[in-house]
Amino acid sequence: MRAGVEKAICVSWDIPSSIKAREIAIKYDCVYYSVGVHPDNVEDFNSTELENLIKSSLSDADKSQNNVIAQRSCHKNAVAIPKTNKLVAIGEIGLDYYRIKDNKEKQKQAFISQIELANKYHLPIIIHCREAYGDTLEILKRYAPFKYGAVMHCYSGSLEFANVLLKLGVKLSFTGVVTYKNATNVKEVVKNISLDSFFLETDCPYLAPTPHRGERNEPAFVVDTAKYVAELREMPLPALISATDQNAKKFFSL
Ligand SMILES: [Zn+2]
Repeated sequence: MRAGVEKAICVSWDIPSSIKAREIAIKYDCVYYSVGVHPDNVEDFNSTELENLIKSSLSDADKSQNNVIAQRSCHKNAVAIPKTNKLVAIGEIGLDYYRIKDNKEKQKQAFISQIELANKYHLPIIIHCREAYGDTLEILKRYAPFKYGAVMHCYSGSLEFANVLLKLGVKLSFTGVVTYKNATNVKEVVKNISLDSFFLETDCPYLAPTPHRGERNEPAFVVDTAKYVAELREMPLPALISATDQNAKKFFSL
């Protein structure tokens, strides 16, 4: 891959995209994946269907010849996982009241059952939250602390809310949005939280960082986000890259 990017996670939004992500990860060594149903797609959410996909995805590892067992060492209660496993998270899951507001209960149900599946199969969760901070927090509080990890992806809330999430053991992840002129909130957050509490992402194909804003985003562009965050935090770029890289690798057991 370009720009020094070693590994990428293909994140899903429904069952067909989860199946596709699995196929891509099987094909390319450097690609890992998540499975999950995004709040915009919960209308036909079926927990059994997702659970069957998780079970069969985890069995990919058993079929591999070099099936060395590794420790999921990033969490207090280390769990033995097959090193060849490429399913690294459940996501995107969460609540989104921006696009669809009339199915809040359905969204909450899907979010909760996917958190429970993640716990059952010892996987971290990737949370999507848009205009639904109160209800998201209420659900997260019920399940904190997250033994297997939780990250609020594309964080764009206030510093105050960021600190509430961090106290619950939820990590934050930032996209190219941090490089946008009007994103003052996000800049304030990324400047003021501890270096071990966040990592960087693309949210491909959306939200390409400046100077690629408006283009189709891709993994190589994450370097532009890293440059911007290093400047904001007044630290050398290699140190910022190394820290966020380690945080992500630890979180997803990559
Ligand atoms: Zn999202």
